[in-house]
Amino acid sequence: MELDNRTLLFSLVLVCAMMALSLAVVSWGREHDSLKKWGGAMALESLAWSLGAARGAIPDAFSIVLFGVLLVTAQAMKLAAIHEYRELPWPRWQCLLPVGLVLLILAALPYEDARNRLIFGSLIYGAQMLMILRILLADTESRTGRAWWLLFGATAAIVPMFALRAIVAFFGTFEFATVQSSVAPNPVQLAVFVGLIALSMLGSMGFILMVKERADRAIRALAMIDSLTGIFNRRAFMGRAEKEYAIARRNKTSLALLMIDIDFFKRINDEFGHPTGDDVLADVAHLLDLRLRKQDTLGRYGGEEFCILLPSTDEAGAMAVAETLRDTVEKTPLATGRKSISATVSIGVAVCPVSCSECNLGFAKMLEIADAALYQAKRDGRNRIVMLPSGCRDAAAS
Ligand code: GH3
Ligand code: MG
Ligand code: MG
Repeated sequence: MELDNRTLLFSLVLVCAMMALSLAVVSWGREHDSLKKWGGAMALESLAWSLGAARGAIPDAFSIVLFGVLLVTAQAMKLAAIHEYRELPWPRWQCLLPVGLVLLILAALPYEDARNRLIFGSLIYGAQMLMILRILLADTESRTGRAWWLLFGATAAIVPMFALRAIVAFFGTFEFATVQSSVAPNPVQLAVFVGLIALSMLGSMGFILMVKERADRAIRALAMIDSLTGIFNRRAFMGRAEKEYAIARRNKTSLALLMIDIDFFKRINDEFGHPTGDDVLADVAHLLDLRLRKQDTLGRYGGEEFCILLPSTDEAGAMAVAETLRDTVEKTPLATGRKSISATVSIGVAVCPVSCSECNLGFAKMLEIADAALYQAKRDGRNRIVMLPSGCRDAAAS
């Protein structure tokens, strides 16, 4: 099978146009959407390649000057799209300078000077790829995903390709000086086109998937957070707790669990209204969060019930933390935006000590114990802390 440049150019036109069309459909009606900008870049690329493919049939000003300007503008738009994705303002100079430069050079060079056109064009295009690589490298968050590597890899691969194209043109190998048209057969041009089709698609897929991966990350994070208090919801807390329990058992360290319930919360709702009750809940969550260490986990377990997991904390440590929290809530005015309400909490404590490392209590059992302790704190008069023994064999012996 013979690959000719015109067919290849036509495939580039088609592939870019389809990509632009699908991105336009997906991002239709959305403002400040990086996919929309990327789609715009693909549309410009498609137009550029169609002008390139028509060389000979249309005036050189279109098939050479406009072709180059559109192609470089498309890369500038991709750079702007990545900035938009990162919520950064578009880099005016980095976008406009290459476009102005390519316009000047292509307009100044005689149309027969294919050699210099290729050298300068490749250098400018390559420089644009380097700018894209630079902004991608700074995006440490997206680097955790795989799509970033697709875009980065595809963009990085274009740089040596264009460098080679510039070098070959510079040294005149393959008699570039005599190549008047990009549609004329030439091994380097052919390799560049094939490479560009593949890398352009790979890079675009990388960017689209990068946007998707970030949306997935945001949804996953949202699914773990309680919207009223901004702390872990029950599901996220339980997931983390099971992990912490396993780590504590493996490392033979103690683990403490506090179950905290706001006293007479119904009365607060009844007396001040549900919105004020919500503020109280959010304030209590915030107060608890402020007093914890980085390694501790706080979650909203139920309506006005919170759970805290304290790794490497023994009975005395757990009681001290619980007392600080109880005291802080009691002394801090809550829902000050609307009213100024005072509230108290009762706390049930369960500790899985180092000594019970052998009996594998299980986190569900710890929850049961903390719940029973909380129930007793309520029965004993509220605004207090009760700790119940873990009841495991080794702990009882120690
Ligand atoms: P106790 O001291 O025994 O804990 O009494 P209590 O009134 O706090 O306990 P109870 O469990 O009977 O009441 C909890 C109340 O919390 C009932 C429910 O309407 C309220 N509640 C649950 N979730 C929310 C919420 O998201 N916002 C508000 N404002 N109230 C909530
Ligand atoms: Mg309550
Ligand atoms: Mg309750």
